[in-house]
Amino acid sequence: MNNHLLQDFQPIALISPVFREIEPLIALSQLLNASLHLPDTTPSSKAAIHTYTYSGSLKDYLGTIWSDYRVFIFCLASGAVVRLIAPFLRDKSSDPAIIVLDLQQKWVISLCSGHQGGADQLTQLISAQIEAIPVITSGSEGINWSGLDRLGLPFGWRKGTGDWTKVSAAIVQGKAVQVIQEGGSTLWQQSAPNSLYFDFPEGDDVLSPRARIWISATQRKFAPDSQLPKVQWHPRLLWLGIGCIRGTSLETLETAIRHVLQQHHLAYEAIAGIATIELKQDEVGLVEFCEKEQFPLKVFTSEQLRAVNVPNPSQAVEDTVNTPSVAEAAAILAAQSENLLEENPSGLIVPKQVFAQCVTVAIAHSAVEYTGRMGQLFLVGMGPGDLGQMTPSAKAAIASSDVIIGYSLYLDLIKPLKHSGQRVEAFPITQEKERSQRAIELARWGLTVTVVSSGDCGIYGMAGLVFEELTAQGWDGKIPKIEVFPGITALQAAAARVGAPLMHDFCAISLSDLLTPWEVIEKRLKAAAEADFVTALYNPRSQTRTQQIVKAQEYFLQYRSPNTPVALVYCAYRAEEQIILTNLSKILDFPIDMLTTVLIGNRSTYQHGDWLITPRGYSLGLLT
Ligand code: SAH
Repeated sequence: MNNHLLQDFQPIALISPVFREIEPLIALSQLLNASLHLPDTTPSSKAAIHTYTYSGSLKDYLGTIWSDYRVFIFCLASGAVVRLIAPFLRDKSSDPAIIVLDLQQKWVISLCSGHQGGADQLTQLISAQIEAIPVITSGSEGINWSGLDRLGLPFGWRKGTGDWTKVSAAIVQGKAVQVIQEGGSTLWQQSAPNSLYFDFPEGDDVLSPRARIWISATQRKFAPDSQLPKVQWHPRLLWLGIGCIRGTSLETLETAIRHVLQQHHLAYEAIAGIATIELKQDEVGLVEFCEKEQFPLKVFTSEQLRAVNVPNPSQAVEDTVNTPSVAEAAAILAAQSENLLEENPSGLIVPKQVFAQCVTVAIAHSAVEYTGRMGQLFLVGMGPGDLGQMTPSAKAAIASSDVIIGYSLYLDLIKPLKHSGQRVEAFPITQEKERSQRAIELARWGLTVTVVSSGDCGIYGMAGLVFEELTAQGWDGKIPKIEVFPGITALQAAAARVGAPLMHDFCAISLSDLLTPWEVIEKRLKAAAEADFVTALYNPRSQTRTQQIVKAQEYFLQYRSPNTPVALVYCAYRAEEQIILTNLSKILDFPIDMLTTVLIGNRSTYQHGDWLITPRGYSLGLLT
């Protein structure tokens, strides 16, 4: 498997105390980049690179490695696994993900830490890859809901205080749950299943909710005796502008920040990052603080800071660092620079506060949260339509995406692969450019986005458009990360249904002149006909483009016999599939449309029964 599909789950341990066949386990450990743990009595256990052996009881051994891994995959009866792990389990926020595989690798069971530990998602990924059946039993999966405790994860939100168990239960039971969202992405709202009862109050609210979710940068204090269970999620919306005197310690900075946040009822979890003047980029305490908390540190030059209008400019500051404001101006600039998706202004919500005469803190609220994630774009070819024709890697890419973008018809075909919490954005067939722009926008923001094309995404598909759009936007070739997953293209699918018509040199020509001038297409048709390529015609005829196929036939007839075998393959590998074998002179007698691929044989292609066959060699000397 592409290792980065699994990067969020590493390190992974694969444990099998039962050794019938070791080869499948070794293959699986390599696929998952997992370390393999086997009893020291296993024959040839040295075969895998990352193999560890243990002696004595597995329970004792497990105790020694329990805290070293994020995921444990057991090849063992699930009952035995339950007994083994029971003594080590603590709570769902800290337990590792536990997955069970049967020995035949037919089933992948998400046993423990399905949501927060990611076992459900990893189960999907592994089963897509090894073509096993995922067994996911969490209450929210059954109702197509990713779970309250995963809700904000795609957007990098952090969990705040509250009664998570009670609010989750109210949601899953379909009780009215009030959501008060004061910031952060609302994408999750559109993908929440209709069976759940979320209420988004506007103005006077008449509903009496059974639980409440707050989504904001505010730190709310919940009364312990309140009847209404509540939780708070914190999108990372706050940019802290910091000024400090040289040598200020990490502890002082942290105390100052916590103090200012608390005074203004803002959540520490809502911090997006720290901003300051370039001069301070090597300020030891500040750098250490950012490293400790994994906060980004944004720095601005005094020229950049000077240009910002701030409420509290200072002459003294101007005299020393050549800008009248550091904290306020830096906070505003940092918050604005995050506005990738929206035009809303980001504003200062806490003007500069001086703490212990050595630290200045100002806070700006960004319109869009900082996700802290590295966005990825997967360009996925889904094959001709039947899921069985899609590569396991392409399935795994889809399983690991936050958002799937594509043409509505194709998205319907991959519905069975989709799992809860994933967002699907369908576009009409014509809006390819919009699709690429949207995908790039979401990936730049930090999401993992799959763009699907039918067949292969690099053959008359979305891959080229996405790359072109990225290039036009000045992409550095690295961020967002991009990966292309090939698929079976229409010409291969069509050929497979009729035998072996391609076999030798062949070419593909699209008859669509929407993106290519007709003169160019004409030239290629003539050249292909003359050079005796087996030729696949894509996009042969639409409702408005009806004459191109007539012309194509005319050019081929100039160079090839009217008896040249032709296959008209409609909807290969889909329920509606239809195949017509005919010859070049008769193709216009049959229906041909945008779901047909036309395969024209070369001079040596022949029909035998229901099969089209192109001989493998040139030895017959047929090219004259
Ligand atoms: N990226 C796709 C091609 C998209 S262009 C691929 O690699 O297959 C669209 C054209 O592909 C259609 O007009 C038709 O000619 C062909 N096509 C796509 N799916 C097909 C299928 N299942 N059966 C036959 N032709 C198909």
